[in-house]
Amino acid sequence: MPELPEVEVCRLGISPHIIDQQVAKVIVRNAHLRWPIPDDIHSVVSLPVLSIDRRAKYLLLRFSTGTLLLHLGMSGTIRVIEQDTPVAKHDHFDLVFQHGKTLRFNDPRRFGAVLWLANDEDKLGLLTKLGPEPLSDDFSHGYLFSKAKNRKVPIKTFLMNNHVVVGVGNIYANEALFQAGILPTAKAGDINEQRFNKLTDIIKQVLSAAIKQGGTTLKDFIQPDGRPGYFIQTLMVYGRAGQPCVNCQTKLDEIRQSNRSSVFCPNCQQE
Ligand SMILES: [Zn+2]
Repeated sequence: MPELPEVEVCRLGISPHIIDQQVAKVIVRNAHLRWPIPDDIHSVVSLPVLSIDRRAKYLLLRFSTGTLLLHLGMSGTIRVIEQDTPVAKHDHFDLVFQHGKTLRFNDPRRFGAVLWLANDEDKLGLLTKLGPEPLSDDFSHGYLFSKAKNRKVPIKTFLMNNHVVVGVGNIYANEALFQAGILPTAKAGDINEQRFNKLTDIIKQVLSAAIKQGGTTLKDFIQPDGRPGYFIQTLMVYGRAGQPCVNCQTKLDEIRQSNRSSVFCPNCQQE
């Protein structure tokens, strides 16, 4: 599943190719994504893309009359390709630009989304009530501690809650808690401010490192048949259950929390 770093790398990858470019045509091959692609998506024809923002894992293509929202869901990919590139299976949506390039959305599992927010009106409320961006100054020392006060929920579940902070998916929650020395099962409200501040710094570090590493895959976003990187990263715990801890060689343990895998070192991580 694409996580925040992949979406940010996607934004960086496609931006230079489509910002300031005018849409010539919109092609909807299959409107049945997580929500149906609305008919008014065609209203972007002849308008230029002013900018591309990201909020949580939503890509927001800004036009003068509204915002085209894209979400990659579980399996979505976006590429900028030449207009005459043959259509492949699961290529549901194209934004064809006047300069000959096409932004193509492919999504085998169709949990992704392509929506039009006329005048930036967010009828589904997708962008409201979201917590701060983890790489922004709003996600600062003291924030998690104050947010966690009296919360009995496990810290990992707490971190993955979009109302607390956006974009800390399963992989990065595992990695950050390992590096911060906090057990994923620790109660959020029991963690002191100092440990929360360390965790905040580490979350910023692991996400920034992933984005930086993903930058090496940027070329894939303009290749006709390259799979744009859901990049393989150097992970210390995620996917390594049963293997030795990189710090102390203790065998890494694995449990399920909210139906997601939590891998941790029972020696290096504490309540
Ligand atoms: Zn260890």
